[in-house]
Amino acid sequence: MRGFSAPIVRALAALCVAFAVPAAAQEAEPRWSIAIHGGAGTIARENMTPEQDAAYRAALQQALDAGKAVLAGGGVALDAVEAVITRLEDDEKFNAGRGAVFTWDGTHELDSSIMDGRTREAGAVAGVTGIRHPILLARKVMTDSPHVMLAGDGAEAFAAEQGLELMPPEWFDTEARREALERMKVEKLSALDVDIKFGTVGAVALDSHGDMAAGTSTGGMTGKRWGRIGDAPVIGAGTYADNRSCAISATGWGEYFIRVGVAQEICTRLRLERFIDATLAADRIPTLVSPDHADLPDMPMQRLADGTTQDIADDVMDEVKALGGDGGIILVTPEGHALFSFNTSGMYRGRATSDGVNEVAIYSDE
Ligand code: ASP
Repeated sequence: MRGFSAPIVRALAALCVAFAVPAAAQEAEPRWSIAIHGGAGTIARENMTPEQDAAYRAALQQALDAGKAVLAGGGVALDAVEAVITRLEDDEKFNAGRGAVFTWDGTHELDSSIMDGRTREAGAVAGVTGIRHPILLARKVMTDSPHVMLAGDGAEAFAAEQGLELMPPEWFDTEARREALERMKVEKLSALDVDIKFGTVGAVALDSHGDMAAGTSTGGMTGKRWGRIGDAPVIGAGTYADNRSCAISATGWGEYFIRVGVAQEICTRLRLERFIDATLAADRIPTLVSPDHADLPDMPMQRLADGTTQDIADDVMDEVKALGGDGGIILVTPEGHALFSFNTSGMYRGRATSDGVNEVAIYSDE
């Protein structure tokens, strides 16, 4: 009974649960929650030294702690997302900001986006160079421009106007990324051969006010050219947040995430799932399929079990796989579930909730 393939069966199950479990007996939900990632891919224990393993875990934990501090202090989800991503952008282990992959021409073109689940306002930048924190620029696009997405020179002019921190090109360079580009050219390899893993960074959060946000930042894929843009700055593909359903950030082979519209697809399926549950719990057929349950005003938002949420996320990631793509997503829900779904051997990831969950992980078997 997976995904959205058997909605009636699941809806009937939801009906049983709704009648069987009185609200007061349901578990208390976390007040806030957060999930983060630093990329997915072919990440195997045997290819990591103990030092590398420890360094990645420490970096993830520090970023997670920065997001937790915002949320535990009553701060908003957008600030938590920003706190995580700015740290990871400065960390050269990850493919975002400093440490971003090289383009075919030996530059770094950065993509980023952020979305506010409360208002569904969003901001994104694509193919920008010299910006220390593309996530801050994406947020400025959201808050200080009438647009959602800016690209290239125009985005950089906007960054200068907004006083964003600029860095010289070499600040973004790392030896490992340069070697990857050179190997790609000499051995005529694809980006997937040399990158092995995707190192994009992202964060999603639910704050104690009940609002959600998502953000993603990346250098894209090694050797990209012709102004290639991946999924990270595409709202609905690499990033999406909607208080009615979920907040998502993705990492992986961007072309497939764009084609599936991964982030919005998962959120939409979750929203429809809630709608079916609400309809059944109200024991009547609504006259209007209103996206915000406006015709069910007496119904609180339906809780979804984390198993259902996981199934839906896994189903959409299976679609990515079926088309030939790979990668993963992180997700939080209005109930406070913080989940991962990935179809690779590993994903750098972490999650925490106000209930005391606090974990970072790398491999698929942990
Ligand atoms: N999704 C990114 C892209 O396709 C790559 C990554 O996740 O590292 O640009």
